[in-house]
Order: sequence, then structure tokens, then C-alpha cells
Amino acid sequence: MSRIVFLNGSFLPLEEAKVPFMDRGFLFGDGVYEGIGVLDGRLIDNEAHLERLERSLSEVRIPNPYTRAEWTSLQGEIVRRNGMQEGFIYFQVTRGVAERDFFFPENAKPTVAMFTQAKAIVHAPAAEKGIAVVTVPDLRWERRDIKSISLLAQVLAKQAAKEAGAQEAWLVDEGFVTEGGSSSAFIVTPTGSIVVRPLSHAILPGITRKSLLRLSKEGGIALEERRFTVEEAYEAAEAFLTSASNFVLPVVSIDGRPVADGKPGPITRKLRELYLQMASAPALAAE
Ligand code: PMP
Repeated sequence: MSRIVFLNGSFLPLEEAKVPFMDRGFLFGDGVYEGIGVLDGRLIDNEAHLERLERSLSEVRIPNPYTRAEWTSLQGEIVRRNGMQEGFIYFQVTRGVAERDFFFPENAKPTVAMFTQAKAIVHAPAAEKGIAVVTVPDLRWERRDIKSISLLAQVLAKQAAKEAGAQEAWLVDEGFVTEGGSSSAFIVTPTGSIVVRPLSHAILPGITRKSLLRLSKEGGIALEERRFTVEEAYEAAEAFLTSASNFVLPVVSIDGRPVADGKPGPITRKLRELYLQMASAPALAAE
């Protein structure tokens, strides 16, 4: 069965989904996106993702083409049509199609594209073994809180990580880690506190990060929302990352140096477990 995608109001086979040449997403990277994890056919933390989408759209002044209820129904439909159990839903909204000109077009309609990617999240080998990260300079713009589809800096950072034998890049600004190329970055201090950079324009407000902070509070794990340096990360007791498509992943090496004994640590494993419980029983976790 061909993958069914959504484009501008229609569900259709991927091969038939065509975006016009003059789409501003293609020409300028003029658009925003969201990515949501799916487990047992359910979307995880969907309300928070839709809220972030609304905020991204409003910050770049692209009109939101759908209400929250309409988005939810389209998402449910694409999951159903693809028989999706576990993986990821991606969707993006661009400013639409117009002759190339920097100014906002007068009457363009936003282009809406949505697709699914099946992926093992719960039993991913990376979750068992942990992953390696390397640090690279954060070359992005100053509004990283907006989930823009302009991802050239992240593409280059993650490719550099891959070429160095790692699975993720940790981006560094003035000696401090901002976040991962496509994930939020955490360390655990030798005294057992989780450290994560506070929200600002410097990082994306990760939805998995938000749930993780709530779960760590409920689990009685100490938390420090502050910046941390690369050197502090080298000396950390544990390190991990969070994202909608991975949940919680242990980081066991940074720039080729093992984190502590180079194995996933107990706090990371506990938080992954708590997150999996929440994702598997969303009704119970709802406040
Ligand atoms: N930071 C960046 C730069 C990202 O691209 C992502 C993933 N979209 C995240 C953090 C994690 O955010 P979330 O938990 O909402 O997937």
C-alpha cells in the first residue's frame, strides 16, 4: 500500500502529492512545522504541539488554516489511513504560492502538507545502548523558539555529527550548550540534579522537554533550569536528550569522551520509563 499523505485539503498517495514550484516554503523556507510522536495509534502530547504550532504561525504572521479540532481530525485521519501504530507525524504550513518576492504576498493561501513515518520508538536500539553526540557551533538565527522549516544550520550540524561517528549534534553558543540539532539537551550533575537550559528565544520550547520536567518533579528528581557549559557536560554523571520522535534517549559519549562509565545512567532510565508510562496511559496522565 502506498503511503497516504495530506496536501491542501486532500488525502492522496505520496507519488501524486505535488507542491507548486513557486511555493514560498521551497523558495524561502518561509513556513513552520510540527512533529508529533505516535504510540499505539495515539498522538502523544498533541494539544501542546498544536499550541506551539499556533504560536509559531502567529510569530511569523501566517494565518492558521485550521482550528484545533480540524487539525486533530486531520491527524487522526492520516494515522488511520496509514494504519500507523508507532512513529511520527510531520506537518508544515508555508506562506503559500506566489511570484518570488520577499514581501508577504497579498492573497496567497497557506500550503499545508502532512505525512507519517513509521518508526520503532519504544524498542529502539539507541534507547538501550545510548547515543554519541558531538558539539558544534550553533550557527542558527536568533528566534530559535519558532519552529521554522528553515533548517540549513541543523542539516549542517547533524551531518557534521554523522561524519564524526555520532548520532546528534549539541549546539554551542558562547561556550554553553543550547540544545540538540533536533532535540532538547539535558545533563545530570554528580549530585543527581537534572540540568536543562531555561526557555528563551535561544531554544525551541520542546514539548517532550515540558513533559519531562513535569515527570521529574512528580518523581521527586531535583531540577535546575540553567545554562550548562560543554566542560560541565564532559563531567556530568549522565546526559540525555528528548524529542517527540525519540522520547528520552541516553547520551553516553560527548565529543568522543564517555559520559561517566559510558552506559545509560539510572536517572535517564527512570525518566524514560516514566515517559513511556505517560505515553502509554495518556488518559491517566491527563490533568
Ligand atoms: N530542539 C530542536 C531544535 C528540535 O528540532 C526539536 C525537535 N523538533 C526539539 C528541540 C525537541 O522538541 P519536541 O520535544 O517538541 O520534539
